[in-house]
Amino acid sequence: MSAFRIGHGYDVHRLVPGRRLILGGTEIPFDRGLLGHSDADVLTHAVMDALLGAAGLGDIGKLFPDSDPAYAGVSSLLLLDRVAQRIREAGWQVGNVDATVIAQQPKLAPYLPQMRQNLARRLGVLQEQINVKATTEEGLGFTGAGEGMAAHAVCLLERLDGSGR
Ligand code: MG
Repeated sequence: MSAFRIGHGYDVHRLVPGRRLILGGTEIPFDRGLLGHSDADVLTHAVMDALLGAAGLGDIGKLFPDSDPAYAGVSSLLLLDRVAQRIREAGWQVGNVDATVIAQQPKLAPYLPQMRQNLARRLGVLQEQINVKATTEEGLGFTGAGEGMAAHAVCLLERLDGSGR
């Protein structure tokens, strides 16, 4: 059994009027928000899928089904708490996470430190272990047209007991 595992997560949500925009647990002033069963925090969803993928635990759709009313409007940071617990129970700790949000608007740079802090806190790691970036796709595709936002995340998990090294 290897001491390290990598994971990748990818998520997309549609932008619609009348919803709050939440990214990495941070509310961002904007005229639209992401549509989804939970708070539709596309960044946190991608991070959770990366962690679950690395641990071989499936994905968030399996853990928190859309069909379950318990998750309606729920903060994705609360779901991240549960994912962090599952990862620990499976014998892993977070080495690092690197994530990218893809959005044409608004400018996300001012909010990235808060997103990073939120994710680090929930995962019980140092901020240095979490990196959050933002990019546009130069006006191309659905993110460029402002129809939605996407997020990618990769992570490294390390065996809690250091076995396999
Ligand atoms: Mg999602």
